[in-house]
Amino acid sequence: MKTQLDNTKEILKELVSFAVMSGETNLPMVNYMVDYLEHHGIQAELVFSEDQNRANLFATIGPKNGDGVMLSGHTDVVHVTGQQWSTDPFELTEVNNRLYGRGSVDMKGFLACCLASVPVWQAQGLKRPIQLGFTYDEETGGYGANRLSQWLKDNPQKPSCAIIGEPTSMKIIAGHKGGNEITTRITGFEAHSSRPDMGVSAVHYAVKMINFILEKAEQQKQKADLDSMFDPPYCSFNIGTIKGGSSRNTIAGFCEFDWETRPVPGDDETEILNEIEQYCQSVLLPEMKKHCPQANIVTDVKSLVPGLAIDKDSSTIQMIESISEEQGYDVVSFGTDAGYFQSIGIDSVVFGPGNISQAHKPDEFIEISELENCLSFLDRLGQHLS
Ligand SMILES: [Zn+2]
Repeated sequence: MKTQLDNTKEILKELVSFAVMSGETNLPMVNYMVDYLEHHGIQAELVFSEDQNRANLFATIGPKNGDGVMLSGHTDVVHVTGQQWSTDPFELTEVNNRLYGRGSVDMKGFLACCLASVPVWQAQGLKRPIQLGFTYDEETGGYGANRLSQWLKDNPQKPSCAIIGEPTSMKIIAGHKGGNEITTRITGFEAHSSRPDMGVSAVHYAVKMINFILEKAEQQKQKADLDSMFDPPYCSFNIGTIKGGSSRNTIAGFCEFDWETRPVPGDDETEILNEIEQYCQSVLLPEMKKHCPQANIVTDVKSLVPGLAIDKDSSTIQMIESISEEQGYDVVSFGTDAGYFQSIGIDSVVFGPGNISQAHKPDEFIEISELENCLSFLDRLGQHLS
């Protein structure tokens, strides 16, 4: 007789074998899950990316409407390029009570637990629905969750609670910061370095802009809320890469830098970004254009991932506390899809198996005991909703 754990391992083995990098198609993996659900009599719905290349999966177990608990996880994983693995990253390998493979902990282990629990919930006779909301492209900016939340917003199937099963070692996480990935490209005008009057240095203007960004960063630090659970308790900034210019004695015609902000939920990051843009448009660009009309500064905000604000009265937290040994909550520094769901009024928390410190690294693994803990939680969740 196969146990729940055996079923979970079997499903996880399949899921890990689909090498779904963010931005690449996840459809073969999604189709596998659609077939699995269909086999259990459940019709999944797909919410596609604009280019139809990737899809979110949404499915309901139990009654079709009202007050559902959505279990959410992402289908994509990070690259293995340049990493030294002791095993094939896309073949689940069991060693010493651990399961190795890319995505085992982040976060196909959770998806496998959910899928394996479907027949259990069906046998329990749910009165409130359990819903599955599996997303794409979480690792690169939550694009899938953004789309799924737009789809759910005015949908009668919109869940009231969401548990995002990112690896928290089965601890309740009630909040995390947001994240904005930004690239700025500056076009100047090349000239011999002996004639600064003939050119416009993109590198010099990048320095001016970065100085302004760092001033904003310092202001945010001064405004820190010292009672906040977040660490650091303010919106942080980082200029991660910078490249530009062609040689020491040429005035740089081009400069590009990648930067980010990590706002605390409640910070008005759009206002901060607007102030920076305003400075470029009204101070830097007019100066540059005086010498070179085609000079330009283009800032491209690639993703604006919302943070998860702590809701002390969250009914999802109360529900998890009532059916597990976990009491109280914490915050984490990594981002998840949860902020998107919270932004459309779904009471969302992060709670899932495995340790985040094993994610994104070579020899990523999940402890089998973590899967067992998750399965037993999902079983109690089903009982609670029956
Ligand atoms: Zn993840």
